[in-house]
Order: sequence, then C-alpha cells, then structure tokens
Amino acid sequence: MSFTFSILATDGRARLGRIGTPHGSFDTPAFMAVGTRGSIKGVTPDQARNLDCQCILGNTYHLMLRPGPETVRQLGGLQTFSGWNGPMLTDSGGFQVFSLSDLREFDGPENGGGNEGGGVTFRSHIDGAVVRLTPRESMRIQHLLGADIIMAFDDCPPADCPPERLAAALERTHRWAEICKQAHEEFTNDPSRLMGHSPFTIHDSLFYPQALFAIVQGGTDLAARARSAAFLRGLDFPGYALGGLAVGEGHERMIDTIDVTAPLLPHEKPRYLMGVGYAKDILEAVKRGIDMFDCVLPTRNGRNGLAFTYQGTRRLRNAGYALDNAPLESDCDCYCCRHFSRGYLRHLFSVEEMLGPTLLSIHNIRFFQRWMSDIRAAIKNQTLSTLTAPPDELLGV
Ligand SMILES: [Zn+2]
Repeated sequence: MSFTFSILATDGRARLGRIGTPHGSFDTPAFMAVGTRGSIKGVTPDQARNLDCQCILGNTYHLMLRPGPETVRQLGGLQTFSGWNGPMLTDSGGFQVFSLSDLREFDGPENGGGNEGGGVTFRSHIDGAVVRLTPRESMRIQHLLGADIIMAFDDCPPADCPPERLAAALERTHRWAEICKQAHEEFTNDPSRLMGHSPFTIHDSLFYPQALFAIVQGGTDLAARARSAAFLRGLDFPGYALGGLAVGEGHERMIDTIDVTAPLLPHEKPRYLMGVGYAKDILEAVKRGIDMFDCVLPTRNGRNGLAFTYQGTRRLRNAGYALDNAPLESDCDCYCCRHFSRGYLRHLFSVEEMLGPTLLSIHNIRFFQRWMSDIRAAIKNQTLSTLTAPPDELLGV
C-alpha cells in the first residue's frame, strides 16, 4: 500500500482524516509520540499502542550517529528494529543539527562550494566528531531507516535571527527541497544506490514506498512563508510541514503564522506542524487546518515528574502529594491512573525509581491521545468551536 490521505469530515477549516501507509493507517488530526533514538523513552511499543499512539516519530540526527542507518537497515528497518511495526515518520536531521550540535558551517553555491546544493558540517554532540550532512545524504539515511513518511532536509534558523539569515535559510531550504525530491526518486527507483561502498548487502524486499514531505520555512515573516509555500507547492509533494515554529516566537505569533500559511498549502494533502506543542497550541492549529503534530512534551515532562491533566498540570515530586491517595487524574483511563495513587508516584520520584518516569510518560501520552480523540470527535460533530483546551497552570500542593 502506498501513501494516502482521505478527508472524512470538516468543521470550519479543521479536517478529520486518515493517512494510509505501507505499515498501516492513522487518524488525523494526529499527535505523534517521539521515539528519538528508536524508542519512546520509558514506554514499550505495546504500551504505546494501548495508549492510542498510531504513528511514531524517529530522529534522523540521533539514529545516524548511533547506531547508524546501515545498522538499522541490516536489522530490518526502523519499524522492525524498534518493534513498533506501525506507521513511522523520520525528521530530516536539520532541526537537531541546528539546535544540538556545535560548529555549524554551510557550504554550497553561495560560499563558492560548487553547485551541488551544498550541506552543513557540524560536530556530533556525542563525541565531537565532525559530520557533514547534505540533502542527498539525509535522503539516503532516511531511505535506509525506512520510515513511511520522510522529511526534506531544511535549514531551520532560530526565531530571532536577522532578516539576511532568514532569507538565506529560505533560499537554501528551497534548493535542498529540489535536491531531496530528486534523490528520493533516485533511491526509490534503485535502492542499490543507498549503500555506496558499504560492505552490507540489501534485500529489495525490505523496502517499502516512502512519502517525502516538504518543509515550509520563513519564520514569522508572513510574506516569506507565502513565498515558501508557493515554491514548494510547485514541486508537488504528497504532504507539507510547517517548520521553524515553536522555537521561541510565542503562541500568538505562531498561531498568526499558521493562520496565514496553512490555507496556502494544497487542501487535499496533509499538513504537519513540527514540534508542537501544548494542548491549546494543537487546538488552535487544528482550527486552522493542521493535521499532524509531534512533541517530546509528554515524555520529557513525564520523566521530570510533571503530569498534564484536564484540570491543569501537577508536579508529582511535591511533598504535598506524600499522603495523597487519589489517582493522578480520576477521569483518565490509563494504566497509571487506574492502579496507582499520587502518593505512590511521589514516592517513586523521591527515591528515583525508574517506574516513576515510565508511569508519568504513560499518563502524559494518554493525555495527549485523549485530547486528539476529543478534537477528532468535535470535528465529526461540528462542535470544534465550543471545545476548550485543558488549562496549563500548575495545580495544587
Ligand atoms: Zn492517566
């Protein structure tokens, strides 16, 4: 089965849909849990499925450094390697190169580096090794990893960068999108090109069709966003992402940017808002026509003892929970809330038992999936305008 997207219902600009991939289908609007290095931290694939995770994200940057894409391919591709065996998406590596690593230097036509599109050289955040990533290499890595949806390699500048940097990033992102599309087609038609001089062999049967999404950049400059959307539309990708948001520009400016940019993308193709976000961000973006989200919030906050609930957030390390016999959230159907008290959770965090982060990650992932399910139901029932997001504020003791 190749990539499909069906819109089943709409409510205003919001869409209820379904994405089909070679590894199964998932409902949209979708929230993808992040399996950075091939695992959702602290949660098994079985648990993730029971929490209603339907599509998982893996990070190309982390997987290319360890264990390396050839190793993942030899072990069956990312879905088999990770034991998830369902729909997966990999990002391009761009965001982590620009946010995690040191010594980022561009080469390419504008720096006298020839006209192959150029790339970026950086130091690995693990051992300082110098690595060069290009759009073609990002495609090669993502083909070896084998996720169902892969992302074009983009230049993701910080929110507060000067206009010249933003303009250069846009230019580079567009040039790289063309190269990614070409390389994607080449690797799809002839997987033997993926291995280069590697000693590994490839079994053709391991390869599934992959859908390449483009990433619209432009910061919060609405004219730049419009130019980017128009250029990338012209290349006809099966899906489009909005990148470079939720990087410090604030909720209002982010929503304003989505409001203007989403309608410029093809109606019949999925729209993915990368790295977002909180429940209210997701609701406002869905109202403006976004179909896919991913964020590390549920697991990162879970590991740190912070739980999202429909009443607000709770910090489970707080001493005030020591004798609290209530479940974390009484209306939640997750394993954590059905079996354990706030007092027990507080104990796990205070003695640093690994079950604490696991239970809160389970609850937080379930919180986001319940919220997506509420959003999908509201679109179906045409009641999205009356839906209010759970509050962010810290509750209780
Ligand atoms: Zn729960």
